[in-house]
Amino acid sequence: MSDNKKDLYRDNGQTGSLLDQMDTSNKNLENIGIEILPVHAGGTVHAKRIGGTFRTIKWVLASFWLALFLGPYLRWDGHQALLFDLGNRQFHIFGLTILPQDIWILAMILLFFALLLAASTAIAGRLWCGYACFQTVWMDVFTWIEEKIEGQPNKRIQLEATPMNFEKFKMKFKKHLIWGFIGFMTSFSFVAYFTDALDLWVRMFRFEWGATETGIIIGLGFASYFFAGILREQTCIGFCPYARIQGAMIDTQTVVPTYDIDRGEPRGRIKRIKPDEEIPDLGDCIDCNLCVAVCPTGVDIRLGQQFGCITCGLCIDACDSVMEKIKKPKGLIRYASLSEFAGQKLPAIWKRPRVIVYVAIMLFAATTMLWGLTTMSSIDVKALHDRSPLYVLMSNGDIQNKWTIKVVNKSAEVMHAEISVEGPAGLSYVAEKVITVQPGNVGATTLLVKIPKKQLTSTKTPLLIKVVDLNNPLNAENYKSVFLSPKIRK
Ligand code: SF4
Ligand code: SF4
Repeated sequence: MSDNKKDLYRDNGQTGSLLDQMDTSNKNLENIGIEILPVHAGGTVHAKRIGGTFRTIKWVLASFWLALFLGPYLRWDGHQALLFDLGNRQFHIFGLTILPQDIWILAMILLFFALLLAASTAIAGRLWCGYACFQTVWMDVFTWIEEKIEGQPNKRIQLEATPMNFEKFKMKFKKHLIWGFIGFMTSFSFVAYFTDALDLWVRMFRFEWGATETGIIIGLGFASYFFAGILREQTCIGFCPYARIQGAMIDTQTVVPTYDIDRGEPRGRIKRIKPDEEIPDLGDCIDCNLCVAVCPTGVDIRLGQQFGCITCGLCIDACDSVMEKIKKPKGLIRYASLSEFAGQKLPAIWKRPRVIVYVAIMLFAATTMLWGLTTMSSIDVKALHDRSPLYVLMSNGDIQNKWTIKVVNKSAEVMHAEISVEGPAGLSYVAEKVITVQPGNVGATTLLVKIPKKQLTSTKTPLLIKVVDLNNPLNAENYKSVFLSPKIRK
């Protein structure tokens, strides 16, 4: 037992120290601002909210999700900045149009985030669940609203036990109405990423939504309300597939919120003892249950790592606040690994093979994605050489090849694409010189190239097909092709 702890127990009321302010019941702790809380005993978890480092981190990360409500209303060059137009198979991201042929960039983005999830889990367990998961964030918002309407956890537990009356009905009605509204706004904002957001509002008031939109908005809205408001922590414990697989990504070096059992046990409440009474040999845990009371999934971390723990760190905030009040070092519950408790030194993060592999794949995905985004042109040209016939011998001795030119306009403006061809001397070509291509569409035209036989020295002569956007001449693409001819006998 630490000297400080002994002092707490020995205090005989003469020194003005901590026990001086207490009587010998649970009031001991209440006097110094520590409430003795009942442990969660089944039913809905009504977690207590207290401030602290991890609570602040949670709110900061949650704001990112909440900002996504505004995403569909951002404008860029007069258009919706983020629009995943599935109907036209185009993704618009701040002026950049990603068409199906560029979908690999989205695959790289997904790969990056999947590996980020794996790497963060290997380093610090269910970080995603605790701080960034949609379910956790919405559950936090829903329970915050519940607290504002129905009061602190003890009041909510009492209210649950009270038979329905007008007052209770009013509170419940208000709460469910706000929850329902948030559910609706969630699904509405989701759908607004796939269609024009402002138009979606207008069509709602005119009752012009399609069946798919209506189905998704009602279905997803209800799911948000049900999972975040009604099922809450049961979603994390019973339904989430990630919770099931994350065990494969952690090892003995993964740091997770852990109760320091050697320091904390045997636990017991602080009390005044008589001078001749034996000092109880207790650890630093004063059994106040605050760590359990703040846990959004109702876990008692003192019983060891549990499936329901989403590693949110709120029990660390709670216990640190208690340690501060009883003047003990913080960290009775802290982020720690099994290796640390086994007395082994934790290697630096960048020396752990699992983390190295995850980060290497993430770097590959990020580099490829950035390369793709920075080199992506808003014009894409494909020249398909006619196979049947490969060439035509003209009556004047010229040889003719035919191509189908396809120009993809990835910009947000109408494109006027001019086609020209460079090759051996005497080359002539016929094509629709300028083709008009609508944004996100493909324009096609036929190109006929003729070269006098005497200018050809091989069966395959290199050609350069040039396509320039007349609105923006920097927007150009050169397509290398070959002109095919029969064997030339000199
Ligand atoms: S035990 Fe602690 S870290 Fe785990 S979910 Fe509960 S409060 Fe969060
Ligand atoms: S671990 Fe900390 S918060 Fe939990 S009961 Fe013990 S002293 Fe209280």
